[in-house]
Amino acid sequence: MPRDEIYLEPEKELEVYGHYDVVIVGGGCAGITASIAAARNGAKTLIIERFPFFGGTATASLMGNINGFRNQVEPDSLQTTKGIGEEIILRLIEIGGVGKPPAVYSSKIYPNTKGKLSYCFAVDIEKFKYITLLTVRNAGVDILFHTYFAEVIADDNALKGIIIENKSGRQAIFAKVIIDASGDGDVAFRAGVPFWQTKGNERHRLTDCLMYKVVGVPENHQIKGCESNGSVILWGPDAGPIDATNAHELTEGEIHTRLRVYENLKEQQENNSDLKEARVVETGPLLGIRQTRFIKGLYTLSGDDVIQGRRFDDSVAMASSPVIHYYGYRRFLEHEGYEIPYRCMLPQGVDNLIVSGRCISSDQIAYESWRAMAHVMAIGEAAGTAAALSVKQHAEPKDLNIQTLQKQLVEQGAEIGQGRKQRN
Ligand SMILES: Cc1cc2nc3c(=O)[nH]c(=O)nc-3n(C[C@H](O)[C@H](O)[C@H](O)COP(=O)(O)OP(=O)(O)OC[C@H]3O[C@@H](n4cnc5c(N)ncnc54)[C@H](O)[C@@H]3O)c2cc1C
Repeated sequence: MPRDEIYLEPEKELEVYGHYDVVIVGGGCAGITASIAAARNGAKTLIIERFPFFGGTATASLMGNINGFRNQVEPDSLQTTKGIGEEIILRLIEIGGVGKPPAVYSSKIYPNTKGKLSYCFAVDIEKFKYITLLTVRNAGVDILFHTYFAEVIADDNALKGIIIENKSGRQAIFAKVIIDASGDGDVAFRAGVPFWQTKGNERHRLTDCLMYKVVGVPENHQIKGCESNGSVILWGPDAGPIDATNAHELTEGEIHTRLRVYENLKEQQENNSDLKEARVVETGPLLGIRQTRFIKGLYTLSGDDVIQGRRFDDSVAMASSPVIHYYGYRRFLEHEGYEIPYRCMLPQGVDNLIVSGRCISSDQIAYESWRAMAHVMAIGEAAGTAAALSVKQHAEPKDLNIQTLQKQLVEQGAEIGQGRKQRN
């Protein structure tokens, strides 16, 4: 593909789709809770999403193993993530929308002695799509599916809106605050926010993998997979260290993993007789992408913060999941949990933008803990609440009174730490 060839796109007038208080780009776990929180806090809210359903990685990539609601300190393993994430899981339980997580997350390690939720839930992906759509809709959020974020509208360093592309063409949307919940930090990137990203094999990172669903397994099986609704989702072929923000590499990753699905099942069958009769019934529309850009924010959460269980004056969420590859092993945390500061969501150099979900400001080790979906939902809730309060107070997100934000989060049932030990 020639890189030096350039086409100059002509200027054109764009239709304005609407004016909003808060616009959220991306409807993964972070975008879902951000939109619900923003609308419930009185903001006129729009969420745009490229797929016609919510969930992002959790649904489009079949990664329905929602982890992270409890810490791992026995005997109580306290519930450290609550709020809208908890509400969604409780609604799923009500309609029979949770199944059996992989055996590694056994109830022995994570006893459910206090609090409403256990550590981990394998969700029925169709029911997760249903409940999240219903909850976003009932919160009064305007929804625009099949829509891509294309560009920012900015005035110096302040965002004023976004440009979208969909079946109706290219349109402008104006907003007082924009939340980037695209996972890849697409909005922040286009706005010129500094970021870091691991490319190729330059250093350790979590690689991307294609999950797939099988049926035809015995009832009491010993398979590493997420079971729900008569099917099991398996961790499938690895894409290697691709850059999923590069369209060509992403395509190669999709091709490579999709062409290996049946071979991968054969390999797993050779190692596990419970998979003997298994057959593939679904691959998700999107390769499971674990990590791409991480924005540089006003604070960068570090591995040390996570290991030490650090607390912050501007905490807006709590997390306590193990670090997946801590110098080669899964490092469980020996403390109650650590706090996630609001500053990790505020990008350097750009106003009216809050970043949420898997691209907040963090180093690699910290990310490998807070990336669990329970925490991502809590981060989303904090972002949406902050955006709505900023609009109400006519303040830039970075100038928002932090105590007001924390008080509101606690009132709506979120867990933000702040030394409230043994509180369940
Ligand atoms: C293979 C794999 C295994 C994992 N295992 C676990 C596990 O066992 N337990 C666990 O808790 N977590 C796990 N995770 C991590 C977890 O799934 C993610 O951290 C989390 O889902 C990220 O949520 P998010 O909302 O930040 O981003 P995403 O889920 O990536 O959502 C981003 C959303 O934005 C949309 N979007 C992106 N760009 C645009 C655009 N330009 N315009 C419009 N829409 C856009 C996407 O379609 C998507 O819906 C795993 C992840 C992967 C990939």
